[in-house]
Amino acid sequence: MPKSSHRAGGSGKNRLLAHLANDEREALASKFETVSLLRGTALYEQGSAVAFVYFPLSAVISLLTILEDGSSVQVATVGNEGVVGLTAYLELERAVVTAVVQLPGEALRIDARQFAAILTARGRLHGLLARYTRALLWQITRSAGCNRFHSLKQRCARWLLSAQDRAMKDDLPLTHEFLSGMLGASRQATGVIIDRLEKGRLIQTSRGTLKILNRHGIEPLACECYWAVKGEGDSF
Ligand SMILES: [Zn+2]
Repeated sequence: MPKSSHRAGGSGKNRLLAHLANDEREALASKFETVSLLRGTALYEQGSAVAFVYFPLSAVISLLTILEDGSSVQVATVGNEGVVGLTAYLELERAVVTAVVQLPGEALRIDARQFAAILTARGRLHGLLARYTRALLWQITRSAGCNRFHSLKQRCARWLLSAQDRAMKDDLPLTHEFLSGMLGASRQATGVIIDRLEKGRLIQTSRGTLKILNRHGIEPLACECYWAVKGEGDSF
């Protein structure tokens, strides 16, 4: 559950909401509350009902698919360019993914039923979410191929670049354990990659933090999915 909540305010802005007309933004604003999200918090679980829709401000959320044996892998990342909890828009009763806080920060949240009610009354918001859903679908489709065919090193580099883009800073509060869960790899295998990146002075890790030292050195290591998804997100 979110650490704390209060009405209105919040740092930064959500770029999806910035596209709305003033009257639509105002209709939502009165229903929003700002929440601080802690790393590793599950906003909702795959197969469960979605109580709230989240518009990240500074927080970054990972969408994970969970298999029956409990293993998981990330299929998409959502930052301040998007929204978490599209089940309300898609008229789904149960979440198809688990949403976990990847980088802590703030988000605006709204009751999923209230959000659905506002959606049906607002055409522009509906159209905006349709466009965002297409971009998200592109990201998820890419991840299916990426998780199957690209090496752990490539995927790890892609993940770090994408996390840095969204965090907009070099210090990422990440542990090996969390990263391995996102990449669907063992801690040991992830640790080997992290060690190599650290020996190459591309990153530096300390307790619970991973610092990007040389982004230009990491870029050639990432698979093409980083650029493909980034391009789609930028055009949106
Ligand atoms: Zn890839």
